[in-house]
Order: sequence, then structure tokens, then C-alpha cells
Amino acid sequence: MAGKSLGILGGTFDPIHMGHLRMAEHVFQRMELESIVFIPAYVPPHKLGQDFAPAQDRYAMTELAVADNPHFTVSDMELKRTGVSYTIDTIRQLHKQYADRELNFIIGADSVAQLHTWHNIEEMLELTRFVAVWRPGYEDAMEELVRHLGEQAKERVLLLDTPVYDVSSTEIRTRIRQGLGLAGLVPSAVEKYIYEHGLYGCVAGEKK
Ligand code: ATP
Repeated sequence: MAGKSLGILGGTFDPIHMGHLRMAEHVFQRMELESIVFIPAYVPPHKLGQDFAPAQDRYAMTELAVADNPHFTVSDMELKRTGVSYTIDTIRQLHKQYADRELNFIIGADSVAQLHTWHNIEEMLELTRFVAVWRPGYEDAMEELVRHLGEQAKERVLLLDTPVYDVSSTEIRTRIRQGLGLAGLVPSAVEKYIYEHGLYGCVAGEKK
């Protein structure tokens, strides 16, 4: 399997944080993946109507975050496609592009519990395997999955027994609004970018 199995981590990355990076590295090692492609959404379908930072900023922060990890790359395919970033379109595109690779779509347990709401999930389960990582508060994620999609869905969703990475983009945005620091929660290059660009309500140039 080694060398022929690709990891995909789609997300809003608003902003990307150490939880994303640590869980991706863990999955990379455990699954002996060839590499992991981070794919920032242009408009995430499950967050329609919410405010997020401009896609170009989220993309730029993702690039900064993975720059020193040779296993990780970033794709702008959802940014280029524009419109609502349905994961099925991304998976179809990757399936064509990497016809000789097994695709592993990496998700947190919160996303497992929501999988039944994803556009064309049945087709997606055929085209990719999902590799899931624990997240606090979603201990019942697999039960939720089975309740909505049936026992057979478990064959395509592998829940890894991973460490819990208790950090979220929501927490980062809240800390910025409260004027709290971000040390250890996001890579320092991302923290710098946030303050330089005045994202999430901070004043551009004024680092806490
Ligand atoms: P928000 O707090 O804004 O909802 P988020 O922290 O969940 O954001 P996303 O960019 O939406 O970040 O997450 C992309 C993917 O990474 C999702 O599948 C999510 O479940 C997973 N993920 C994010 N943070 C973690 C974490 N700390 N541990 C495990 N998985 C995570």
C-alpha cells in the first residue's frame, strides 16, 4: 500500500491550526500515506450563511502552515472552481487525476456525525475511503453514521484510535476577539499572517 495511497484533508481552515496539522501527521504515519493534500474550501457548503475570512487568506495561511512539512501540499482546486465547494466534485476530480491511487479523505469525528448530510455521500463512499480522527464531544460519531447510512458505511469509514487534539478554528477566532495569544495553537507564521492582515477582528499590525 505504501507509496500508492493519498491523503486528502478538506476544510474551511479559518484559520488552519495545530489540530489540523497534528492529526494529519498522525494519519500520515499510521496509514503510511504517500502525501496529504490540504484543500481549502472556497465556500464550504455546511457553513453557508456564516462569515469566513476570504478564501485567498485561508489558502495563504494553509500554505504557510504546511511549508516546512515535505509530506504536505496544498491544492487550490476548490478556489479555482469557485462557487459552493461540494466535496463530491473534488473527489471526482481527484479520482480522475489519481486513478492509480487509493484516496483517503481525512475527517474529524464531528464530520463523521454529519456525513449523511454531505451531497452525494453514497457515491463519495464508493470513490474514497474516509479516515476519521477523534474529536472531543463526538464520541457517538460512528453510531450516528450507522443510524443514518447503515452498517455497510462502516466498511468505508475507518475510525482511528488517535490522540485527541482539542483545538478548533472557532476557539482561535474567539481568542483573537478576546485579545488572547495564539502560541502553540497555530504555527507562528499563521499567527503573524493573521495580525498583519487584520483577520478575525484584530487590528492589522497590532500583535498581542
Ligand atoms: P470550526 O471551529 O470553524 O468549525 P474546525 O476547527 O472544525 O473549524 P475545519 O477547517 O472546519 O476546522 O476542519 C476541517 C476538517 O478537519 C474537518 O473534518 C474537521 O473535523 C477536522 N478537524 C479540525 N480540527 C480538528 C481537530 N482538532 N482534531 C481532529 N480533526 C479536526
